[in-house]
Amino acid sequence: MNEAESDYLLSSISGMSGFKLVDSYEDADFIICNTCSVRKSAEERAEGFISQAKGMSKRNVRIILTGCMAFTSQDSLREKFPYIDYFVQNNDKDRILEILEKARKSEILSYDGNGSYVFRKNYHKSGDFFSYVPIQNGCNNFCSYCVVPYARGREVSRDFTEILDEMSYLDDCGVRVVTLLGQNVNSYKSGSRNFADLVDSISRMRFGNIKWIYFDSPHIKDFNTDLLDVLGSSDVFAKYFHVPVQSFSTSVLKSMNRKETQEDIYSFFEIARKKIPQAYFTTDVMVGFPTETQDDFRMTLDGVRNIGFVDAYMYYYNPRKGTAAYDKYADMDLGVKTSRLEELIELQGGISLEIRKAMLGGEFDLVARKPSRKQKGKVVCYSENNCAALVDEDRLACGQSGRFVLKELKGRTFLA
Ligand code: SF4
Repeated sequence: MNEAESDYLLSSISGMSGFKLVDSYEDADFIICNTCSVRKSAEERAEGFISQAKGMSKRNVRIILTGCMAFTSQDSLREKFPYIDYFVQNNDKDRILEILEKARKSEILSYDGNGSYVFRKNYHKSGDFFSYVPIQNGCNNFCSYCVVPYARGREVSRDFTEILDEMSYLDDCGVRVVTLLGQNVNSYKSGSRNFADLVDSISRMRFGNIKWIYFDSPHIKDFNTDLLDVLGSSDVFAKYFHVPVQSFSTSVLKSMNRKETQEDIYSFFEIARKKIPQAYFTTDVMVGFPTETQDDFRMTLDGVRNIGFVDAYMYYYNPRKGTAAYDKYADMDLGVKTSRLEELIELQGGISLEIRKAMLGGEFDLVARKPSRKQKGKVVCYSENNCAALVDEDRLACGQSGRFVLKELKGRTFLA
């Protein structure tokens, strides 16, 4: 979501008179840092960025910090980085444009607020063949480890017709791959219409350019058979789904305040695979939640082995201030968390490799996104199940798609 919102800000600022984007800190009058609080590592990266950017900039540079940290860590950031000029909350990102506009006229905008979330007209980064479409913001689930419901507020859904309009606009722009975004994307609701209705309506549109549509991140509890049916029969929704499970232990899921049990998770994948046999899945898995025993952890390893995810985002629990788990539980020993994570990563690495090896020699549709930075003369392409492949640029230009045999696997990337 932050990336989509950053794209929106970049496009808006590029179009404002008196402003241009610059490549170096030394040339910048303003630095905008759009932050994420979901993981501790993301916060640490943002703090590193702020110090580095300030150190390399002009003395009078003005710094605007936005995103989740403007909510979750404002007090500590004010203390650590007294030179941050503005903290702009997630719901108010448009105020950044006002701050800049005022500054252009040598005026100062006094800002203190947190308005309600407004969806923008479009989030497309000009020239990119892959684009995001935010359709839902915020979350009502309050998983005990997560700051999102506090930092982004309760769920709001974007107007149904606005989304269809943006899809048409992106198709006209030549976009090939779209990802519908929301913190809890499949709980989308606009009037009487739900996410299955949206998928159905989008699938009935006739696109000249858009080839695949993804959505991120759904919640297992918000999948139902209607949704799986409409996804299975859609020609344009990719048969590749990122479905965060977090854990396969019912007792850990309960202390995480996740609504599903181990049985629900297995049953979801069984039904989904019956309805969409060609489906590929990826997931998010957290280890080292404070109540996780060795047996719970084994259940997660078994689950990962049994489902066979193409890839997984794996991480260990980090206490996030302001969440229920932060107040309730003492953190687990770091050594235990680290060794569990390493074991999980090794297991998933083997599974990812096996799935990729099984694709070798097969013919797959690929969409070319951008020139490769590392391999001159090649373009970076993606398959429907989001595996990267390199193709010679004289065989496929950026934005084009074609069918290719995956001939070789180098690390995680195919050569086609
Ligand atoms: S579903 Fe849970 S983990 Fe996902 S954003 Fe909501 S509270 Fe956070």
